[in-house]
This record gives sequence, structure tokens and C-alpha cells, in this order.
Amino acid sequence: MSEFSLIQKYFTRTTPGAVLGVGDDAALVRVGSGMELAISTDMLVNGTHFFPDADPFMLGHKALAVNISDMAAMGAQPRWATLAIALPAEDEAWLARFSAGFFALADDFKVELIGGDTTQGPLNLSVTILGEVPQGQALRRDGAQMGDEIWVSGKLGDAALALAHMQGRLKLDEAGFAATAAALHRPLPRVALGIALRGIAHSAIDISDGLLADLGHILERSGMAAELQFDKLPMSIYLRSYFEQSTGFEQSTALEQSTARQCVLAGGDDYELCFTAPVERHAQLEKISAQLELPLSCIGQIVAGSGCRVYAADGREITTKETGYDHFA
Ligand code: ADP
Ligand code: MG
Repeated sequence: MSEFSLIQKYFTRTTPGAVLGVGDDAALVRVGSGMELAISTDMLVNGTHFFPDADPFMLGHKALAVNISDMAAMGAQPRWATLAIALPAEDEAWLARFSAGFFALADDFKVELIGGDTTQGPLNLSVTILGEVPQGQALRRDGAQMGDEIWVSGKLGDAALALAHMQGRLKLDEAGFAATAAALHRPLPRVALGIALRGIAHSAIDISDGLLADLGHILERSGMAAELQFDKLPMSIYLRSYFEQSTGFEQSTALEQSTARQCVLAGGDDYELCFTAPVERHAQLEKISAQLELPLSCIGQIVAGSGCRVYAADGREITTKETGYDHFA
């Protein structure tokens, strides 16, 4: 099949939200008046971001999901995407599943694929996403202010926990692996939350590289420090079982506990939002959480200085060695 026919068959859909979609030298879009265009690119590389035998449907989902997540983190409405794909061979079964995964999520979020590039080479997936946000209302990393509360959406660490299991660093039971693997393979970007946070959050980021790393970007760009309460971090029952020893789960070893702690604080692939907002917004944020049926947890606060400190329930500071993360000071 020619490259053109492949594109036609697997990557061409109607794009009523664009002036011109796939098929010309460039796509054309019109941005609403009073809106700014938010643009971001994320690449998934075979062997680095996924295993060579990964399910292509899951890859299609994830390649787009990680990009939509960047729009969520900006408070932008994702609208259009382009897809650059390098494929080792023409494999129609693979392409069919990949594009099904991609378009299933695109349809859920009303994102239109308006262009891209298709070439032969080691498997590599690069998506560029374009979104709209009202002028001056984007959620940025550099706006955190002294006294802000620090919030995260959803739960942290499950994706990293599933990965730890796959790499043999700890062992989950069947139900635990099924639940956490879903977080790893099918992250759901928090677009509605990002939009709800316009005018409320002082700063925001999506958690792709782990809470401490990504919150660290907010702190650096804002010139602030943070104090976090470890026991306020939202965790699934599977992760929490490593820290609560009387819940009927098998006793975990110190090594497993340390791996679990690293999953929560420094694990990647959560795709939840971390944001800061003034204390006066606390009740409003709890309302937003109820409306969106999405847990929002207040996990700490912004203070003067630099770096991030994490405290245990008894007030003891959790050390760098215990978090497994050594560049957050
Ligand atoms: P050109 O040689 O002008 O760059 P191409 O032959 O690469 O054009 O692409 C033809 C059309 O198909 C263009 O509109 C391009 O944006 C689109 N396209 C190519 N690959 C993809 C893809 N993987 N997904 C969506 N659109 C694609
Ligand atoms: Mg081209």
C-alpha cells in the first residue's frame, strides 16, 4: 500500500473544527477571537517510553493522552493535533489498532487530527497538540505565591507501581496489577479540571516525571519552596498497603516500602495535575472536586526559599535517601 493510501485509510477523518485538515501541504485552523493558541509536542520512543511489544491500541491512546495532558496543565481546551510517526515496516494490523486507540481518545476529547508525517524507521511517535485558552488565562508554572496551598488531582504512584511490578522490583497480586496497569497504559488527561482552574490556580503542571520533579519545576520557575505532608498524598489501596501494615495485606519488606514511597513521590506517568492556589480558594476547590467527581487533595504549602521538604505524620522529615530522589533541593 502506498504511503498516501495508508494515511488516507488510517489517519484521515473529517475535521469540521478545522478550515483544512489532512491532505494539503499544511492544515489551516482559525482561533476564536480573544483566544490564545497553546502548542505542545511530546514524543514516545520505543524502548524509552514503552516496551517494543506494547499493545498498539494502548500506544495510540497514550501518545495522544500525554499531549492532551499538557493542554490540561495550561488550562487550555485541546482542539487539534498532528502526528509524526516512524514505522519499521508497513504493518496494517498494527496501524489499525494504533489509529483506533488514537481516535477513541481523540473523539472523547473532541480533538481533530489535522496533519502529520509518516515515514519508515525505528518506531517513534510524536504528537503536536494545539489548544485554545482565553487571553492571559493560561495556567503557568511561574505563578506560585507564598502561602499557596499545593493540590494534586486523582491518585499518585499507581503507574510507577505497575512498572515496578513489571520490572520485578516488587510483587503485586492480580487485582493490584490489573488496577495499577490501567493507570500506566490508559492515563486520562484532566482537561475539565484545567479549565475549571482558570482564574483560581496561581500555577499548574501535569505530573509526568513524578511529583517531586514536576512540583520542582513550579518551585524553580516561581522562586519558591514547598513543604509536603506525606500522609496527605492520595494513594490507591494497593500503594497504601505498603505503609499500613494491619490491613490484611502481607507484611511488606523495608525495600518494598522504599520502592512504594518512590512510586508516590518520584514515579512517573501519573498525568494528574499539581497546582497551587490561595487558601481562600480551598472551599471552592472542594466544590470543583465534587462537581467533576475527581478527588483533589491538598498536600502541602508554598513557603519561602528553594527546594521541597516532605514530612511524615509524626513531623519527622523524610530524607532524600528515603524518597530516592536526590535533586529536589
Ligand atoms: P508533504 O510531503 O507535503 O509533507 P506528506 O505526503 O508527508 O506531505 O503528507 C500528506 C498529507 O498527509 C499532509 O496533509 C500531512 O499532514 C498528512 N499526514 C501525513 N502523515 C500523517 C499522519 N501520520 N497522520 C495524519 N496526517 C498525516
Ligand atoms: Mg511530509
